[in-house]
Amino acid sequence: MTADLDTFRSQTRDWLEANCPPEMREPIRSDADMCWGGRNWTFASDAQRLWLERMVERGWTVPHWPKQYGGAGLSPTEAKVLKEEMARIGARLPLYSFGISMLGPALLKFGSEEQKNRFLPEIARGEIRWCQGYSEPGAGSDLAGLQTKAEDKGDHWLVNGQKVWTSYADKADWIFCLVRTSSESKQGGISFLLFDMETPGVSTKPILLISGNSPFCETFFDDVKVPKDQVVGEVNRGWDVAKYLLGHEREMIAGMGLGGTGGSLGKMLRPDDPFLRADIAAFDVDALAFAAMSERFFEMFKAGEAHPASPSMMKYAGTELNKRRHELIMAAGGSDALERDSERSKNGKSARDWLRTKANSIEGGTSEIQLNIVAKHILGLPGT
Ligand SMILES: Cc1cc2nc3c(=O)[nH]c(=O)nc-3n(C[C@H](O)[C@H](O)[C@H](O)COP(=O)(O)OP(=O)(O)OC[C@H]3O[C@@H](n4cnc5c(N)ncnc54)[C@H](O)[C@@H]3O)c2cc1C
Repeated sequence: MTADLDTFRSQTRDWLEANCPPEMREPIRSDADMCWGGRNWTFASDAQRLWLERMVERGWTVPHWPKQYGGAGLSPTEAKVLKEEMARIGARLPLYSFGISMLGPALLKFGSEEQKNRFLPEIARGEIRWCQGYSEPGAGSDLAGLQTKAEDKGDHWLVNGQKVWTSYADKADWIFCLVRTSSESKQGGISFLLFDMETPGVSTKPILLISGNSPFCETFFDDVKVPKDQVVGEVNRGWDVAKYLLGHEREMIAGMGLGGTGGSLGKMLRPDDPFLRADIAAFDVDALAFAAMSERFFEMFKAGEAHPASPSMMKYAGTELNKRRHELIMAAGGSDALERDSERSKNGKSARDWLRTKANSIEGGTSEIQLNIVAKHILGLPGT
């Protein structure tokens, strides 16, 4: 077993060495460096296109998915080796995709065979970009309070309502969306629907942030007709699909706690202030503990052996850690770090990254909600 894994590691290393273009081993510097794929994606460079094509061909955009759906059928241990070898040379992810991190796992578990064959290979190849239609103006933490309605019209669903904070809705090709198909029960009346964002009646309005970016939108549905076979799982049982997907979303967001390829803050920052140095040392110890805990969690999660509430624990720990990391970077950078529009500050990268982390403990469910889940389902405290 170990010998097989050693062979796999050395073959993987050789392949990456030969196939990962040098430009794709450079750190991410701007949004365009992150390839999201989809119908309207414009590659930032030939290297970006080539890297995606080569990884797709090998099934390595989704290494642990079965081969029939565009994956490589790797075991969790092999997938981990691939990840380590990519990290060793600083290789970028070939594809960033809500299809891979969120919808795919839900389709693998709840989708019909027809849905799996139709959507999973497209996701693996980065041909369709997805967005997530969960939150509504009156339903965020209380997600099951959602009001977007899908009426059964015999040969199709008719969808009416509004979503909010839909990340990249204006750039996405398709949406996975929670809709109310019955008002008899709060959680029991929700269905999980997929539809094309070009369907007549779908419109988006970007929300402009203080940073000047518009990473998300209000999304409106006015008499949107959706084919009947685009419900995932059973009608009125979409809450099960939604919760399962949220576990995967939280797993993805928890990964922020690992700080990318940044490594130890103590090696990166050398402030004169001894108190700040002590805070940085304490942070590095916690980051190492989180990395060790993550290794165990990700392995168990991929093998389907993790406690159902453990993504909440990891999401809470990872995002609070990431926020602390950027607070320390700002503190060590002093007033220079607040610069926003100069070349010297790389267009305010530190400040913008720091501000972005504020959303980590909101997106995918707030820290308070994660703590409620941990309290109830892991610690067994009375429900809230
Ligand atoms: C960067 C970003 C990207 C996002 N992308 C998407 C997306 O693509 N698709 C999508 O559907 N949504 C998206 N969201 C929305 C996100 O899921 C919600 O913002 C989140 O679930 C919180 O809901 P809310 O904003 O309505 O806040 P509310 O639910 O109104 O919460 C307000 C405050 O009250 C606290 N609170 C609420 N209920 C409780 C409770 N029971 N116990 C203790 N405290 C409580 C919360 O912790 C929070 O501090 C995104 C959000 C962000 C910030």
